[in-house]
Amino acid sequence: MNTVCKELSNDEKMFQMIYDMSDSAFLYYNFGEKTVKTVGSWNKFFDTGLRTSEELKKIGHCVEEEYAPQFEEFLFPEKKGIRKGDMTVRLRDGKTWLECEAVVIYDKKGRPKDKVLRFEDITKFKRQHEELIYLAYYDMLTGLYNRNYFVQLLGKFLRKAEKEEKKVGVMFVDIDDFHRINDGLGIVVGDEVVQQYGQYLSSFGGKDVIVSHFNSDIYCLAIYDSHGTEEVEQIYRAMGKRLEKPFILSGGQEIFITAGIGVASYPEAAKNALELINCAEIVMLKGKARGKGSIQYFDTAILKDFLQDIDIENKLKDAVFHQNFTIAFQPQYQANNKKLRGVEALIRWKDKEGNMISPSVFIPIAEKNGTIISIGSWVMEESVRIFSGWKKKYQASLILALNISAIQYKRRDFVDSLMQVLEKYEVSPSEVELEITESILIDDLEEVKNKLLALKEYGFKISLDDFGTGYSSLSYLKGLPIDTLKIDKSFIDTVISDNNTKIITESIIYMVKRLGYETVAEGVETKEQFEYLKSIECDSIQGYFLGRPMPPDQVEMLLNETAG
Ligand code: C2E
Ligand code: CA
Ligand code: CA
Repeated sequence: MNTVCKELSNDEKMFQMIYDMSDSAFLYYNFGEKTVKTVGSWNKFFDTGLRTSEELKKIGHCVEEEYAPQFEEFLFPEKKGIRKGDMTVRLRDGKTWLECEAVVIYDKKGRPKDKVLRFEDITKFKRQHEELIYLAYYDMLTGLYNRNYFVQLLGKFLRKAEKEEKKVGVMFVDIDDFHRINDGLGIVVGDEVVQQYGQYLSSFGGKDVIVSHFNSDIYCLAIYDSHGTEEVEQIYRAMGKRLEKPFILSGGQEIFITAGIGVASYPEAAKNALELINCAEIVMLKGKARGKGSIQYFDTAILKDFLQDIDIENKLKDAVFHQNFTIAFQPQYQANNKKLRGVEALIRWKDKEGNMISPSVFIPIAEKNGTIISIGSWVMEESVRIFSGWKKKYQASLILALNISAIQYKRRDFVDSLMQVLEKYEVSPSEVELEITESILIDDLEEVKNKLLALKEYGFKISLDDFGTGYSSLSYLKGLPIDTLKIDKSFIDTVISDNNTKIITESIIYMVKRLGYETVAEGVETKEQFEYLKSIECDSIQGYFLGRPMPPDQVEMLLNETAG
């Protein structure tokens, strides 16, 4: 008997130790003896001891009010004849979460015999769970909704709008030149700007406006029941006003930013959330091309252009791979004696369906995706090769004019690779004129000048293309190491009909001659234009009137005539 008692008390000790070590509290109630026993972390959760089962009610006050009624039922499952029950509650401290479990054992007649309640501290698990939920819906950096959740919420807006026949506007917001902040000042500063701007944007959030941060410098807003462009304009104006002031960072730096916005609305632009966001992004990009701080509304033409560009981009990669291009050469003539001055190499591309795609369409795309480098090298080698053949055959003294994209020009190996081609085909740099555009000059002017000087030292001629379409300022031309100025077709088009253009063209030619540059007029289509340009002493003429861009064999015919 004694030993049994001893064993039992050892068991008790063991259980006591296990209870004490666990994060749980237990209550045992024996209905026959009407005794209550509490063990484990009881005192940690409940500030009251219990003597009778009825006193259990007291711990009902330890949980937050919203759980209290259900918790009381949970504490007395026998009242409803329940065998097993569970629930989760939060204590009044507002922090501790308990998972509660109840088990009741009944006798054969259905009377309760024993009851065990278990309370386990799940605060840590709950916190982790909440963090996971937070991560699923929110963006850590800004605290705004993340992209995924925004798409879900926008979907809800759209379903509601469909029922209520309302509009939903989506604003795609992208900070201008953000990479400059990130690259120049570091990502810590970049993050702070993103955070502060996000905080500002969150002020627009509400029942009818969802504000989200997608990633990096991209935010998206959705506006329910937008009336035309009214609400969007309001937000755009408010944003613009805010951005007149700098963001003041924790390090004291003041940063000014601007942001480009694209707007697409349901149901006009698209019917589902992802497409709507896409449309807003596409028009935002379009707006950016116009300048900083822009707003661009969706229109189907923009989408069509965009899709066409993607189509061209895909075909272009294939064409570059297979080198499916040819070169046309357009003659340039000296105005006073109509002698052939040279030819300009112009790339031609016929896609697989046999459609000619204009270089003014695909060159900008190639510049964006980098294929301009291989296209440019191909044009360089192919035109020099053909040109070298003519030279040898006709001993003609001609200039080969090559269009050089800014991207090509900026490459460090540009001069070397050009020189290699010239050496291979025995063409001298003095026979080559490089046509550059004003876009090259936007960068560090000193560096550009030095590079031009280096090219001139090799003997190349440099020509400034499309003059009059960019800065149109003669003053910056001074001191620029160029040889030739090509007056853009847009001047030539109206030089006869419009007196202002006439005056401007005349003064350009006069000034340019005084600076010592040669002038070439482009896009000369009529005899009248030709005669007039000749009379004001424009040096050379290029245009349909004297010769269209032509395949190499036709150039040979011209050379034959000249030689003959
Ligand atoms: P660009 O350098 O200004 O070339 C002159 C453009 O005007 C050519 O268009 C030419 O065909 C066209 N043109 C010449 N005379 C007349 C005329 O009397 N009337 C009219 N209406 N047009 C005339 P194209 O060949 O379509 O080339 C367009 C642009 O594409 C070129 O403008 C140039 O910027 C670019 N490009 C062409 N080939 C190359 C190339 O190999 N490399 C690079 N980087 N760009 C190229
Ligand atoms: Ca040109
Ligand atoms: Ca031009």
